[in-house]
Amino acid sequence: MNLELDEERTAVRQLAKDFVDREITPHVVEWDRAEDVDRGIVKKLGALGFLGLTVEEEYGGCGGDHLSYCLVTEELGRGDSSVRGIVSVSLGLVTKTIAAYGTEDQKRHWLPRLTAGEALGCFGLTEPGTGSDAGSLTTRAVRDGGDWVINGSKMFITNGTWADVVLLFARTNDAPGHKGVSAFLVPTGTPGLTRRTIHGKLGLRGQATAELVLEDVRVPESALLGPEGKGFSIAMSALAKGRMSVAAGCVGIAQAALDAAVGYAKEREQFGRSISHYQLVQELISDIAVDVDAARLLTWRVADLIDRGQDFATAASKAKLFASEAAVRAANNALQVFGGYGYIDEYPVGKLLRDARVMTLYEGTSQIQKLIIGRALTGVSAF
Ligand code: FAD
Repeated sequence: MNLELDEERTAVRQLAKDFVDREITPHVVEWDRAEDVDRGIVKKLGALGFLGLTVEEEYGGCGGDHLSYCLVTEELGRGDSSVRGIVSVSLGLVTKTIAAYGTEDQKRHWLPRLTAGEALGCFGLTEPGTGSDAGSLTTRAVRDGGDWVINGSKMFITNGTWADVVLLFARTNDAPGHKGVSAFLVPTGTPGLTRRTIHGKLGLRGQATAELVLEDVRVPESALLGPEGKGFSIAMSALAKGRMSVAAGCVGIAQAALDAAVGYAKEREQFGRSISHYQLVQELISDIAVDVDAARLLTWRVADLIDRGQDFATAASKAKLFASEAAVRAANNALQVFGGYGYIDEYPVGKLLRDARVMTLYEGTSQIQKLIIGRALTGVSAF
């Protein structure tokens, strides 16, 4: 793995950094308090190519590599995890999955709009009764003539109330476990699909997390994505790459925590000197710095494996596990450096901690990542 960023990637990172500093950072407190980011951000992300980074150019993407995707995601995570999540879900989980498994018609219909930010995608796997055990989902799609009729509900769906299309996973036959699950592309305007925003989240408050209810939602045969019965493996392959994106977002959180902690420690004076003079404060800062570097290296390694066409799934679980726990630690250490000021939202570190906390939960909890890594090492599934 070459750790030096070449000119092109340095430029991509700088583009993302400038965008974050100009369009995101000045608004994060306001968006967090309002529980809503400015929705115009989606078109801006599309205009810069951030919603099509790794998609082929013929479908409106930039044809970029996964390291560039990591760099942009890190920067967005440094700015606001709510905005980072919009990209990770719409591009990472939906657009890329359509690009990988879609028919030519599905690709031509959805990809140019999704990559331009004219449409947004959401990923509907989790249900009220099935989280970690996603393969047991109960939303059902039944054939009716040339159509599919879908009934069920989905929980905690990122981008849910904003999205134009749901990549929806539903049971299409009674084969045991996950074998009967299929994937569908369901436009959110389809009659019978209702959406409710979930309020009161600890973090990611700017993000439109939703519950979806499907009552006799009718879609044509052409809405099926990939072969019938392959939906679960499609979902798992999307999530494996998605974990790299979550990990990169966590690197961004940890980097933001480091920048804030160093800046504050140099300014804040107690006992006649800036608190940066105290060894225990330096310990907090150096712990954050080590977490940033370690999380970044694990994450870039996943990008490198993907870009070289190597097996990356276990590495992605390791990166997601470590980076998410590291982001929580880093934000918590930064809050300690800020003392009481860290506890109020005029200062950035409290939000970093609230946003970081969910990273250990979604796209597979830390426990589930450990089971994936353990299975790869021992050959024994302990789920
Ligand atoms: P559970 O599965 O009920 O787990 C509860 C606890 O039990 C956890 O600690 C877990 O680690 C542990 N546990 C479960 N099984 C085992 C086991 N076998 N061994 C050891 N421990 C175990 N889902 C989507 O489909 N799309 C989205 O866009 C999306 N966005 C989300 C956004 C937010 C803000 C949140 C909070 C969630 C989102 N999710 C989304 C859902 C998320 O992926 C699930 O919350 C997650 O998979 C965990 O499921 P659960 O919450 O039902 O917890």
